[in-house]
Amino acid sequence: MIARTCIVSGTCEALVPSLFEIDDDGAHVLLEPVPDNLLEAARDAADQCPSRALTVIS
Ligand code: SF4
Repeated sequence: MIARTCIVSGTCEALVPSLFEIDDDGAHVLLEPVPDNLLEAARDAADQCPSRALTVIS
């Protein structure tokens, strides 16, 4: 999963706090590769990202 063009909305962190962390530089993925048990949540976060900054690679 790669975060690009992040506008720091915080949506991904709110949806999956165990996978995303937000700071002044934007979103960071805490676990790569994304564990199988978080893949569905990761895909949901990617779908809801307002800037389409997230891509799930699996
Ligand atoms: S949801 Fe998208 S725009 Fe918002 S913080 Fe996460 S990566 Fe950035």
